[in-house]
Amino acid sequence: MAAQSGWSFDNSYARLPEMLFTRVNPVAVKEPRMVVLNRPLSRQLGLDLSGLDESERAALFSGTVLPEGSEPLAQAYAGHQFGHFTMLGDGRAIVLGEQITPDERRVDIQFKGSGRTPYSRSGDGKAVLGPMLREYVISEAMHALGISTTRSLAVVTTGEPVFREGMEPGAILTRVAASHLRVGTFQYVTMRGEHDVLRQLVDYALERHYPERIDQGNPAQTLLRGVMERQVDLITEWLRVGFIHGVMNTDNCSICGETIDYGPCAFMDSYDTATVFSSIDHQGRYAFGNQPAIAQWNCTRFAEALLPLLHDKQETAIEIATEILNDFSPRFEKSWLAMMRRKLGLFGVEEGDADLINGLLDWMTAQKADYTRTFRALAENEGIPETSLYQEEVFLHWHRSWQQRRERQTSERSASQACMCAANPAAIPRNHMVEEALGAAMEKSDLSPLHALLDALSAPYEDRLELVPYQQPPGPGAARYQTFCGT
Ligand code: AMP
Ligand code: MG
Repeated sequence: MAAQSGWSFDNSYARLPEMLFTRVNPVAVKEPRMVVLNRPLSRQLGLDLSGLDESERAALFSGTVLPEGSEPLAQAYAGHQFGHFTMLGDGRAIVLGEQITPDERRVDIQFKGSGRTPYSRSGDGKAVLGPMLREYVISEAMHALGISTTRSLAVVTTGEPVFREGMEPGAILTRVAASHLRVGTFQYVTMRGEHDVLRQLVDYALERHYPERIDQGNPAQTLLRGVMERQVDLITEWLRVGFIHGVMNTDNCSICGETIDYGPCAFMDSYDTATVFSSIDHQGRYAFGNQPAIAQWNCTRFAEALLPLLHDKQETAIEIATEILNDFSPRFEKSWLAMMRRKLGLFGVEEGDADLINGLLDWMTAQKADYTRTFRALAENEGIPETSLYQEEVFLHWHRSWQQRRERQTSERSASQACMCAANPAAIPRNHMVEEALGAAMEKSDLSPLHALLDALSAPYEDRLELVPYQQPPGPGAARYQTFCGT
């Protein structure tokens, strides 16, 4: 199958110390069936599946037939879940190996929902169709939005019922990631007191994700700085599009800076920094506006895990970690301001920019204005948007200040507008639309709404007539939308 399908594995993780993983094969499933296949992604990976019929593809993406060169393993890791430390591991995921793409990238190919592993604890190791399709839709939407993320290659059903709230169709998602190294991987090794392994893991992570920084001195310090900087960039991007991850535990905090683990995530409709969708996030720990603080908290846990390598003397190691971590807030502030300037088509820097930006956000909060629609309307409309909301006095006042700020910049008006259109998506995976598409797929086996949604979300910045239905905010009642952990 390898030659014919284009698999080209080189499994560097499987060559790392054994404490980091357990070799385990996916559990065979009863009757695998293809649901979706991401053809453009499969081509980017160098795969040619044209020689396989539907049932052969289903066998491949269910792990019934393993591709040549794969070395399936479940990774060991730990994590702070909602602030509490636990030893974990891939309880329902198996990494097949690392595909080397035609453009020489190295990516993990992982099954999610392929049965029990030594890390499953009391779980069944399974996944169900709704949440796997949801991860497929949202991760691909994030990619099209230009945000660093794991990708989704395929979803199959297993032909086996899985017990959740009731019986649900079992499913497996094939996930593609730059790697599955996470903050929790390092926490796991440090907790076990294996400093030699920790050193190897740091070198491995640097080589795989930060090769350009390898010669910048102490490897652990370099890695900490790199991870922190990428977390700043990533969270800034989440805030740009109104994304709420929902479960930013340290085991879901990727070392390479990709968005990973689409469980209870969702996009915000009306602007409110306190927005939470996850049914289990009672304290609002992972609320929209709390995400920068949580990313910083996660980086601090990462620094703790690296402490033995930051310096021989613990006191000095703590000083070094603190100095690096102190850079998080000013760096984020700067990154956020730059991002919001792009959303408002502002070039250069003026002292009043933060006030101008916050003026709009405060008004949006008070009016419960839709985050995506408002910015897109400003981007598309040189004048004042038509709906009555925007005739409101405070908005009109803000709009004048914004126009004056834009008039002071020398560049063409069209450049400012183009900048806004590239920073403000027209279409995001609105919760009600995702639900509708998943509902049709699950209840009526009708995949056409899902494909229409995927198509609309594949070019989210374009002004296309087909996008119009995907631009509408939900009706009343949307505020009560809840997500559940995708198990
Ligand atoms: P997640 O919330 O998906 O990041 O998962 C947190 C931890 O629980 C990870 O170690 C998962 O492997 C594990 N887990 C989640 N669902 C299951 C399941 N159905 N069976 C076994 N382990 C699971
Ligand atoms: Mg996870």
